[in-house]
Amino acid sequence: MGKPTGFMEFTRELPGKRPVAERLNDYDEFINRYSDQQLNNQAARCMDCGIPFCHNGCPLGNVIPEFNDAVYRKNWEEAYDILSSTNNFPEFTGRICPAPCETACVLGINQPAITIEEIEKHIIEIAFDKGLVKARKPHMRSGKKVAVIGSGPAGLAAAAQLNYAGHQVTVFERDEKPGGLLRYGIPDFKLEKWVIDRRITLLEEEGIVFKCHANVGVNVRVNDLLREYQAIVLAGGSTVPRNLDIPGRELKGVHFAMDFLKQQNKRNYVGDPLAHADIESNILSEEVLATKKHVVVIGGGDTGSDCVGTSNRHGALSVTQFELLPKPPESRTPAMPWPTYPMVLKTSTSHEEGCERQWAVATKSFIGDENGHLKALKIVNLEWTSSADGRPAQFKEVEGSEREIPCELALLAMGFVYPQRVGLLEELDVELDERGNVRATEKAYQTNIPKIFTAGDMRRGQSLVVWAISEGRECARKVDQFLMGQSVLETKDAMLSLIS
Ligand SMILES: Cc1cc2nc3c(=O)[nH]c(=O)nc-3n(C[C@H](O)[C@H](O)[C@H](O)COP(=O)(O)OP(=O)(O)OC[C@H]3O[C@@H](n4cnc5c(N)ncnc54)[C@H](O)[C@@H]3O)c2cc1C
Ligand code: SF4
Repeated sequence: MGKPTGFMEFTRELPGKRPVAERLNDYDEFINRYSDQQLNNQAARCMDCGIPFCHNGCPLGNVIPEFNDAVYRKNWEEAYDILSSTNNFPEFTGRICPAPCETACVLGINQPAITIEEIEKHIIEIAFDKGLVKARKPHMRSGKKVAVIGSGPAGLAAAAQLNYAGHQVTVFERDEKPGGLLRYGIPDFKLEKWVIDRRITLLEEEGIVFKCHANVGVNVRVNDLLREYQAIVLAGGSTVPRNLDIPGRELKGVHFAMDFLKQQNKRNYVGDPLAHADIESNILSEEVLATKKHVVVIGGGDTGSDCVGTSNRHGALSVTQFELLPKPPESRTPAMPWPTYPMVLKTSTSHEEGCERQWAVATKSFIGDENGHLKALKIVNLEWTSSADGRPAQFKEVEGSEREIPCELALLAMGFVYPQRVGLLEELDVELDERGNVRATEKAYQTNIPKIFTAGDMRRGQSLVVWAISEGRECARKVDQFLMGQSVLETKDAMLSLIS
């Protein structure tokens, strides 16, 4: 433990942010770095618990007390080694993870949790600054070839691990650049895209080949891959959005959130929001802008919050966000004791920038003008009843609460139902589970076709970046076992002996 009395001397402190009025003028990240002293104090708070629940709360099993201690001692090489032994991309999770480790932190019983996510981000950025992060090439090649389809965090993690194990890995990506939702979903103000480019450059130096504009099942034939590669990892994500099939859905001005967010990410990155619409699927051929519009975001999760932040940067007249469920409590209730993940009110940095949030509201119809453009929403309040464990169970409409609100842009951010079937999955004829995801157990990651494996949102359904990385790593281990009889990715030491 860094400082035995640290948790009594210092309280939780987050780094400062650029003021709202300033950051709304651009799409850049706005969270500052800690000063050296602040970082030291935050690491000093860690109690090095006998049973570190934080470690258990992290899907990657990050070795948190040990890296906190190394940070306190300013041993950056050690901190980086510990962190990178379980997490291929801490620069992503350090920026955008909802940090289940923090809700599991023992200090959280009666004090604010350790700022684990920020400490993680500082370790990796300091490691980059100090030149500690270098391409790690395998000493030997196995002679086996693996194709990874999809370059989101699951595909990238699987590719990185399989490459360390000595296999020749090619990543096929239908988009213009690798990164998946890291690049085209999550806005720059949460994750600037040079962070992804920096990692892709390293992965290329390590020996991974990226083939972009390669939509497997459309302009790349699945049978060719089956012939050329000894194993295939499907990491295509869960990309079919949940629709709101109510009257007026066809009006101009009603869009899926990803159409809006992807265009803005492309606008920032390549200048042209409609670039390469021909190769990707489900891409709009018109621009979606929130400028000078009353915007309503339907759906209260991460995607919805990203639409709020982007709409404010476009210069929307107003931004309102609807959630079907009632407003959650501000802190834990007896139904969600520590260390369970609490379903409490979350206020994102985008919400802080300006947004009217309405809970227990349903949209009944989209109302258009004579030209077929959206001009209003008909909405109604809901009254919820709870189940015995306190969770919202059933709702009914509140009589007399039906009303219209002005709205020229409605963004549907109600999650994703399953992976796209047209193209890749149909051509492969791979088995799906009852939810429509690619069927493979969490232990095996293997589909019903022996040489085909799957990981990330394509297997587990819409989830988180940290789970995608975790699945990519575990899946790589199973692919390595399949190819070699046993896996060198079993332990950190075995793996480290393979790379320089
Ligand atoms: C707007 C938004 C914001 C989010 N914010 C957060 C957040 O803040 N924190 C968090 O933890 N999670 C967040 N998530 C969830 C997170 O991004 C996903 O869980 C994660 O990216 C899943 O990773 P993946 O690799 O499984 O799939 P994806 O990231 O979806 O990557 C799949 C890739 O496969 C490619 N692909 C698909 N089919 C083919 C094919 N046939 N041929 C070639 N390529 C193909 C796609 O183009 C894509 O690049 C967010 C999601 C969205 C939509
Ligand atoms: S649970 Fe919290 S205090 Fe305990 S070791 Fe983990 S980060 Fe440190």
